[in-house]
Amino acid sequence: MKIIDIIRADKPSLSFEVFPPKTSDKFDTVKDATEKIATLKPSFMSVTYGAGGGTSEYTLSIAKNIQENYNVPTLAHLTCVNSTKSEVKSRLEMLKNNGIENILALRGDITPENQNREKWDYHFSNQLVEEIKNSYDFCVGGACYPECHPESIHQKEDILNLKRKIDAGCEFLTTQMFFDNNVLYNYLYKIREAGITVPIIAGIMPVTNAKQIKRSCELSNCTLPQRFKAIVDRYGDNPEAMKQAGIAYATDQIIDLFANGVNAVHVYSMNKPDVAEKIQDNLSEIIK
Ligand code: FAD
Repeated sequence: MKIIDIIRADKPSLSFEVFPPKTSDKFDTVKDATEKIATLKPSFMSVTYGAGGGTSEYTLSIAKNIQENYNVPTLAHLTCVNSTKSEVKSRLEMLKNNGIENILALRGDITPENQNREKWDYHFSNQLVEEIKNSYDFCVGGACYPECHPESIHQKEDILNLKRKIDAGCEFLTTQMFFDNNVLYNYLYKIREAGITVPIIAGIMPVTNAKQIKRSCELSNCTLPQRFKAIVDRYGDNPEAMKQAGIAYATDQIIDLFANGVNAVHVYSMNKPDVAEKIQDNLSEIIK
């Protein structure tokens, strides 16, 4: 099933993200966690992509397993940085031949290991979107950044670049995590004004571990509101209390989003079935 049809429906959509293992010895543990999340029957599940090593193969096997054995539609992430056209083409063929219908088309991060630009056939995600849309029938989504992509000098430039992705055929956008819904509402106003009308899926991160959050906010350019910082200050050293507060905070954000007409929410569930289940339970009447 195509993600665009799920998120365009009247019913609110709640989906979960999982990530593949980096090494084969972790495969069974991760597979088990993704299966537990799949039994919750979310609207769809996305599986992230790590270029190189085993992880790129695992994205497909995890997505295929969820789709075929749990009947949950999947969204396979794909990055293009540091890839040749023929590498991307063979990956697309593999996804198609295994029944995957939806791709989140990403550039990927530029790291010290992949600086050799001579090898690159793609520099930005709009080139990947165009490549996929020119030759395949996948439903294609992309990423967007309510607080601006860290490489962009300002938001106006970032939104102009986002428009290139849409013009290339990107059908929906999933946001980077954010902790203040007003940030998203302001961003929606700006992108709509720029002529971007595709559905937006709001990405929500339930913070259950205080240590991770500072680093991931620095990397992803997202700010922590005072209300959230107070929770981390108070409960950060008590893992169970932090988990409960993090789930409550995420639930609160999601209810506010649905109440304000954002009909699709994607939870960065980080391979944690208990967190996914609690959030879904908290919303049981709302997503009925
Ligand atoms: P782009 O859309 O190419 O944008 C990158 C930067 O270039 C931005 O500053 C943009 O303004 C600018 N830009 C874009 N197009 C142009 C252009 N034509 N000309 C000039 N400038 C341009 N990473 C992974 O490795 N695996 C994953 O599975 C993964 N999943 C993600 C899911 C979501 C929802 C999000 C938000 C991010 C994800 N990422 C993932 C991280 C992502 O790869 C990084 O944020 C990366 O730095 C940018 O990817 P992008 O597709 O947004 O890039």
